[in-house]
Amino acid sequence: MRRDLPLEEQISVERVEVLSGITVGELADKLGVPGAALVKKLFEMGEMATVQQTLPDDTVEIICADLGVEVYFMSEEELEFGIEAPEDPVALESRPPVITVLGHVDHGKTLLLDAIRLTDVVSTEAGGITQHIGAYQITKDGRPITFIDTPGHEAFTAMRARGAQVTDVAILVVAANDGVMPQTREAIDHAKAAEVPVVVAINKIDLEAADPIRVKTQLTEYDLVAEDFGGDVPMVEVSAKQRIGLEELLEVVLLQADLLELSANPNKDARGRVVEANLDRGRGPVATVLVQAGTLRRGDVLVAGTADGKIRAMFDENGQPVDEAPPARPVQVIGLNEVPEAGDEFRVVDAERFARDVAERRAARERRKELAERRPTTLEEFTSAVQAGGKATLNVIIKADVSGSAEALEDALLKLELDEVQIRVVSKGVGAISQGDVRLAEASDAIIVAFNVRPGANAREEIDRSGVDVRSYRIIYEAIEDIQLALKGMLAPEFREQVIGEAEVREVFKVPRVGFVFGCMVTRGEVRRDAGVRVIREGVVIAEDKMSSLRRFKEDAKEVREGFECGIGLEKFQDVKEGDVIEAFETVEVDRD
Ligand code: GDP
Ligand code: MG
Repeated sequence: MRRDLPLEEQISVERVEVLSGITVGELADKLGVPGAALVKKLFEMGEMATVQQTLPDDTVEIICADLGVEVYFMSEEELEFGIEAPEDPVALESRPPVITVLGHVDHGKTLLLDAIRLTDVVSTEAGGITQHIGAYQITKDGRPITFIDTPGHEAFTAMRARGAQVTDVAILVVAANDGVMPQTREAIDHAKAAEVPVVVAINKIDLEAADPIRVKTQLTEYDLVAEDFGGDVPMVEVSAKQRIGLEELLEVVLLQADLLELSANPNKDARGRVVEANLDRGRGPVATVLVQAGTLRRGDVLVAGTADGKIRAMFDENGQPVDEAPPARPVQVIGLNEVPEAGDEFRVVDAERFARDVAERRAARERRKELAERRPTTLEEFTSAVQAGGKATLNVIIKADVSGSAEALEDALLKLELDEVQIRVVSKGVGAISQGDVRLAEASDAIIVAFNVRPGANAREEIDRSGVDVRSYRIIYEAIEDIQLALKGMLAPEFREQVIGEAEVREVFKVPRVGFVFGCMVTRGEVRRDAGVRVIREGVVIAEDKMSSLRRFKEDAKEVREGFECGIGLEKFQDVKEGDVIEAFETVEVDRD
């Protein structure tokens, strides 16, 4: 592989399958490039990251788009159960449509859903609305239609954000007297983003002030053009209150659904989505689930989000016990060990043990994610907070090579205090940054000011995980200046050193006429010929220098990456010993935003 090629040309994969929360290093592996190359790429994009750091999904998308690689985010489902082959078309059978009602508050969504439900002879016979359930099915001309009763498009969006695409057709309710309102616009955006066909229900036409033509005219601005306006969006004038136009609305919805040729395989283990769930005093966790494929049966074992259990009982929207639920059928299930969240995927599995394991792994992943998102303040964020006028205390942990430096640093820092901002030295000590230091920093929301010392191996992992800001300095004055500026809210866009790799010295050679060459193994990131280097012995910086040579298999190399051996010569410092670490660093401008 030619390292001097642009990164995109080093990549031979066309598609990567990743899990949300992938680290820089893992993504580099999938792309088949050195971790450090990706770190560099991120710099160019203005992002600071280490190889172990996790990347936000959108960043992964941007990187991959930039490199011309298709990215596929594996769901946790796929991680647990593998990426599935597409369904055999022969196994597919047509299924009822799933409809969601969206629209501005008070435009009549709830009343419309209630009215639709009352058009259903079957449920009326069963006693009308016996209880609230987040989804229900009606029968129109012998065909079932499923409605999801979302309290608003927040729920719809929240479901979608969780990858829960449950809706086939959206009914957009617009009150004929009120017209397009802010939440109507949002609802349109959401429906468009979800790429679901929209049927507009122009509601409240019983009112004097109703002006359906105005509504249609307004909607053309959002590319929703009514059929009588020359477009192809079905719009039906209705009154939820007086039950006008409901039959026609349902017919139009069914027509839209027919165009989609909806199908699912009913002959397999069920899976679907949790529509809503709550804790019932008598019955324990109760979840309304929508079956999307397969058939759900009483006695099935299922995992739903971080909940698991065996279905003890199932009920339909009328509270009647049912034994089976085919695709698009919403049912209430009882038997889960905890309350899942709306939007959680559920899936029937073979064994209770496996269900429990999957649920536990998920719970663990969620905890990790939460921890990762709780990032402590960085000096940059602190300076922004000061700028924003927030009174602040900057918590600092000092680690230095000798106690004299630690004390000098503390004294100098404490003298910096301004009226509105204070410094609190949470702890100070001598020696390499330890795991404990990082944990303390995380817990106390502190930054670590490191003077001529480095994190140990465990501490490094802890730093990457926690995102604690470690500021390394060689000159006390520089440390003071940085922090002084931060206190004034004036920390300038700065040049910051970024460690790009580390090499462990395994052997020292004396080469006639050349001097010393240090045989190294690159243990982390990458070592680059033009990078600055520091020699570190037992966590303490003992020298700073430049490379005079970097060779790999007797050939000059521009860079050598993790896992490879190399020979390094230094310009000045020659007193390197076996076991020392040569750290390579680059200076990059850090954009504070
Ligand atoms: P949502 O916030 O969109 O769910 O709206 P609701 O269904 O709660 O209805 C809001 C208000 O509008 C209630 O007072 C309803 O009675 C009333 N409303 C709903 N539909 C109609 C209708 O077709 N005609 C009239 N006159 N009032 C309606
Ligand atoms: Mg409502």
